[in-house]
Amino acid sequence: MSNARGADPECIFCRIVQGKIPAKLVHEGATTVAFADLNPQAPVHVLVVPKSHIATLDDLGPANGPLVGEMVLAAGEVARASGLGDRGYRLVWNCRAEAGQSVFHLHLHVLGGRPMRWPPG
Ligand code: 5GP
Ligand code: ZN
Repeated sequence: MSNARGADPECIFCRIVQGKIPAKLVHEGATTVAFADLNPQAPVHVLVVPKSHIATLDDLGPANGPLVGEMVLAAGEVARASGLGDRGYRLVWNCRAEAGQSVFHLHLHVLGGRPMRWPPG
């Protein structure tokens, strides 16, 4: 069952959204918040998250289309505001264990400020 509404008191990103755990906020929209990753993998490493608790990409449904669009648009705004507009940047969604998802609150990684390799590890 989708858990797309409200907050999960056990969830670290819900707690960041609620201001209960400190984070370096870099952007806020109506439905999204963006903050610096605690363990950055590039000079710019920001996470865009929905304000509501959604565990994984697989918990999204058709009604979440606008939210996904807002997350992607917020990521682009963060990248441009971080000076990456001309250089380029990478957006990453990790879904479940084998992709490396470690926090089960949907998030979009914004990475940039160094050359990126392909394929990803
Ligand atoms: P995932 O591996 O799930 O795709 O990404 C989770 C990301 O969340 C990791 O890059 C990790 O460094 C970051 N992270 C985990 N806990 C915290 C936290 O408490 N604060 C912040 N700002 N980032 C966190
Ligand atoms: Zn959450």
